[in-house]
Amino acid sequence: MAVDAPSVFRAGRLPSESLEALGRQRLTRLLRAAAATEFYGGRLHAAGIGDRDPLLERDPAQVLAALAPVGKQELREAGNRLLQGGGPRPEWRSSASSGSTGEPFRVYYEPRAWAMLKHLVKLRARYACGMRPADRVVLLDATPVMGSRAALAGVSRVARISVLQPAEAMTTKMAALAPDTVYGLPSALLEVAAVLRARGDRLAIHRIFTSGELLRRPVRDELADAFQSQVFDIYGSSETKEIAWQCPAGGMHVNSDVVRLEVLDEAGQPAADGVEGELVATLLVNRAMPLVRYRLGDRGTLLRRRCGCGRAFPLLGVVTGRQADVLVLAGGARVSPYTITCALERIAGMLRYQVTQLDANRLQVRAIVEPGADRVIVAAKVRSALRSEVAPFLDTEVEFVSRLPTGAGGKFRVVQPLPEAVAIPLTV
Ligand SMILES: [Zn+2]
Repeated sequence: MAVDAPSVFRAGRLPSESLEALGRQRLTRLLRAAAATEFYGGRLHAAGIGDRDPLLERDPAQVLAALAPVGKQELREAGNRLLQGGGPRPEWRSSASSGSTGEPFRVYYEPRAWAMLKHLVKLRARYACGMRPADRVVLLDATPVMGSRAALAGVSRVARISVLQPAEAMTTKMAALAPDTVYGLPSALLEVAAVLRARGDRLAIHRIFTSGELLRRPVRDELADAFQSQVFDIYGSSETKEIAWQCPAGGMHVNSDVVRLEVLDEAGQPAADGVEGELVATLLVNRAMPLVRYRLGDRGTLLRRRCGCGRAFPLLGVVTGRQADVLVLAGGARVSPYTITCALERIAGMLRYQVTQLDANRLQVRAIVEPGADRVIVAAKVRSALRSEVAPFLDTEVEFVSRLPTGAGGKFRVVQPLPEAVAIPLTV
């Protein structure tokens, strides 16, 4: 790991031309490695690009653009055809994720790529936000309650608290550990905040890093307030590890030295600056199992502007939701979950909510409101906001609750569309 530490940390301070050159050089190398695998070799060949093609050196981005994005299912089916040499090597590391199908998808990494992605790139971002090696760190995640072996190189005192246990137990453990830094799911942190409030306790944390769920503005504000903490969001996936992280100036920086992130429109073309589209990632440093234009399953935007902190890493605008969370309404209209959250977030008194599609014309909103909020007024505002900003025919059932359910792995989904299997009638 030590071998790449100086260069990874140095990349964080490179001027944009040098950073772009590094990204280009790594893309060339990655595409060459990809060309040597059966899966991508076939695709490159089909696009008219041989494995010694001068274009790989001259303009790797053009080669990349000729390759169609691939999803998890397709890669899972490709199996060993994705691997360098046609099979896993004993020294490779791997991690598996299970998708909505529950079928695991395993990605293999060379040891150096693993050390960079799993440790160095993360530490670079955490240190940029003020974390220090002596910090007491709590990881609040979906590991089983008994499995508590913590692995976070570069930090000496790490404890793990599983979110798969009652909020009271999480809170008691967290208060006993009194961490400087917490890394966790926003929904779990909100539950801890609620328990602390109910107990009349306070717990100050220097910095909170959130990932795994969309971090909406009101949730960020609530966490910052409840823990008197700075809150930094992180975006990534199990396959690519961390893609973007928030710096103290507020920008979501893409780790462009190790991952190339693109936003594509419906036609598969790069979306314009700030325009929402499908996020696809190319992991630049792992040649064991190249991931080229991997569909992350999320929608979001990229911004061309620079961040106030001066770092040259490009900026991710917002991740607006899971590709799978797009609602299909009566008449076939597709609605981004972001449209819905924007409509609801302006309503005074709403603390948190979850939206579930009931059918093509109906939504259910479960809401947690501020104590003392007038529920009749909040419910009326929810209905009218969704009618005026989403679809005029929408009927909304509003239910007031004290907690919101989480799904697989303790993750919270703010907008839940109808299951794909449910047919939507195409008439209003
Ligand atoms: Zn910044």
